Amino acid sequence: MSQIEVKKIVRALSASDGAGVKLKRSIGTPEADYIDPFLMLDEFGSENKDDYVAGFPSHPHRGIETVTYMLNGEFEHQDSTGAKGIMSSGDVQWMKTGRGIIHSEMPAMKEGKLLGFQLWINMPAKMKKNKPEYLYIKGKELGEHKDSEKIVKVIAGKYKKAEGPEKNHNVEPIYFHIVLNEGKEFSCDVPAGHNSFIYLLKGELKIGEKKHDKTVDSNLILLERGTSLKVKSNKKSELLFIAGKPIGEPIARGGPFVMNTKAEILEAIQDYNNGTFAKY
Ligand code: FE
Repeated sequence: MSQIEVKKIVRALSASDGAGVKLKRSIGTPEADYIDPFLMLDEFGSENKDDYVAGFPSHPHRGIETVTYMLNGEFEHQDSTGAKGIMSSGDVQWMKTGRGIIHSEMPAMKEGKLLGFQLWINMPAKMKKNKPEYLYIKGKELGEHKDSEKIVKVIAGKYKKAEGPEKNHNVEPIYFHIVLNEGKEFSCDVPAGHNSFIYLLKGELKIGEKKHDKTVDSNLILLERGTSLKVKSNKKSELLFIAGKPIGEPIARGGPFVMNTKAEILEAIQDYNNGTFAKY
């Protein structure tokens, strides 16, 4: 057993995407460009409808998976495979874009609080040409562990008897959403070789055994490799713990496309311009 320690604490950056939706980006920034296999992490949300009402109109993706976890609010989703649905508070949409998908993500709410996360997971070269797949997971289908100290929602991986609905995945992901009461501890095992991080939404944490800088809201906490995670809450805290097996391939980014080479990015742009992008 090797204890997981903090590698670096990064403050999420304010950004906007889509038609101007305000968000906080933590992975996919100069300080945390690519935490293999994770390409991007956005916390989107606001109490002010003007910050989200324009949504994410029709746009393409290729070569990645996007995992959207809605904590508060309602969004409508439509894509080029014909899939269409409403995401409500607690739901997860796990989209494997493979060769290509064109979709829109628009608010189905006119006011109120919006809060959610979008994580991008890279796909290995051999899967970037796959047909797109779209998994829609209702909040009640997530694994859940509850005791007097914490609530752990399991989107992927396993915590005690709670298991996530996304199984047999090539990067063996762990994706937990944890609410930890003040002064309590959360611990779990992590496969050796996985890269991992914590995103602290609210609260203050002490991680591992070594001293580290104070953590605050909207911190991305990159972790050293190890097999045993131990987290203590100095205050009541809400966090995501995410881990995955690195893919170890070169990446080329082109906005919504992530491939292995620049030439493949140019090909994706041409396919999109020619109207052959989402034909399978
Ligand atoms: Fe998208």
